[in-house]
Amino acid sequence: MSKDSSVRVRFAPSPTGPLHIGGVRTALYNYLFAKKHGGTFILRIEDTDQTRYVPGAEEYIIQSLQWLGLTPEESVNHGGDFGPYRQSERKDIYRKHVDQLIASGHAYYAFDTPEELESMRAREQAAGVHTPKYDQSVRLKMRNGLTLSQEEVATLIAKGDNVTVRMKVPVDETVTFSDKIREKVSFSSNELDDKVILKADGLPTYHLANIVDDRSMKISHVIRGEEWLSSTAHHVLLYRSFGWEDEMPVFAHLPLILKPSGKGKLSKRDGAKFGFPVFPLEWFDEKEQETFAGFREEGFLPEALINFLSLLGWNPGNDEETFSIDDLCQIFSLDQINKSGAQFNYDKAKWFNQQYINSTETSTLYAALKDSFDNSIDQNYLEKVIEQLKPRVTFLGDFKKQSAFFFDKPTDVDEKGLRKKFKLENEGHFTALASLINDSPNDSESIQTAVKGYIADNELSFGAIFAPLRIFIAGTMAGPDLFEMISLIGNKECSQRILDGIPLAKQLKNNG
Ligand code: GLU
Repeated sequence: MSKDSSVRVRFAPSPTGPLHIGGVRTALYNYLFAKKHGGTFILRIEDTDQTRYVPGAEEYIIQSLQWLGLTPEESVNHGGDFGPYRQSERKDIYRKHVDQLIASGHAYYAFDTPEELESMRAREQAAGVHTPKYDQSVRLKMRNGLTLSQEEVATLIAKGDNVTVRMKVPVDETVTFSDKIREKVSFSSNELDDKVILKADGLPTYHLANIVDDRSMKISHVIRGEEWLSSTAHHVLLYRSFGWEDEMPVFAHLPLILKPSGKGKLSKRDGAKFGFPVFPLEWFDEKEQETFAGFREEGFLPEALINFLSLLGWNPGNDEETFSIDDLCQIFSLDQINKSGAQFNYDKAKWFNQQYINSTETSTLYAALKDSFDNSIDQNYLEKVIEQLKPRVTFLGDFKKQSAFFFDKPTDVDEKGLRKKFKLENEGHFTALASLINDSPNDSESIQTAVKGYIADNELSFGAIFAPLRIFIAGTMAGPDLFEMISLIGNKECSQRILDGIPLAKQLKNNG
């Protein structure tokens, strides 16, 4: 990996709520791109829209990145040479740039009240304009720096009511930029409105703050969701107005993440609708008094989620699909990002989690899980339980859910299975097997030899014996290897469970 200090990318979320899984993917791709090129990954908090600010959202974003190991080198918490990294703390920088645009004639003050804007829209609609915009066709009919005298402008600024600044979009210009994923994108300036760049509260809008920061933080590549593609036309015009057009960052707009059906964008409501998380961490929404599920709380390993997300929009160019974050840092490339939307497939996410849990060191799993178990349980014993269940679980929480019988006689017994598999004529064989197991040395090999030998000698069917044995011991027919399980729980205890289980099996049988 060569170190290229000129590669600087940023993840720039707005703290307007929890980080959606699409945002996490954007963060991941930025991170991977930075690492691939030995560049810098920056986290910038875009909080200039105070009306949409949600307390706790910034902290949530930071914690999510931390959980996933996507650590920024520059951020609110990590500092850096290009701070502050929270836009609400950069007001003076934006103001200076807005003034520069006003002075050069690329922006103008506008004083229109909400009522005046509303009547402009009504007027335009009456005249047959489908979606009225504050643009070149109406700007000279409004109350702004282009229509009022200098004195009037000065008086209105001093009064301070509804003072905004709008960009003056040029007439008949073509705005063209190249996108790494979409190639060339073109817009006619005549389709673009005079966007507000400074709001009445003195804070800039996203458009101005975003490009001023990308410029002053020396961002080399802007990698973000497709929903920002149309805003880029305004951004290019702003770069042009500042005289920076020749040094714009490279743009790469990532494809949408689609619902499992492939129809429409995956929304925050889809999680509850389809029964899977769409947020990295659980989130309680104060306003809606509703809890949204998180991948972490569902029992996902961050490595599994990363691998899953890496393939939602990018492809390695071959059939391989298991990649550690280190692999991804080596092979990730913007050239292999797909243009079309990526379908969210929760079963695939679960499959990755299963693979990752199975290949995680038992001691690491033990460290992550021990607090969810009774602290009187011996470490060595719990590690062995984890070892046996590891190939069988999908979520971290499954270890707890599927392991009760390792610690106590099962209380939740698969009665249906027992009724089906237990044969009354085998009662004596189970009693004999109980004593055989009791008398065998307590290692899985010996127990296996004894039990299989007995079955063969008595010409019994394996299924008719193994299934009830499993239910007597574990309460269920599913579970790890029978003989490993008996050896871990203990041959004496298991022998007793078999003897205790026979009467229940008979009763179930007799009752039909
Ligand atoms: N603040 C924007 C967001 O919330 C950032 C878009 C961009 O990366 O330019 O996604």
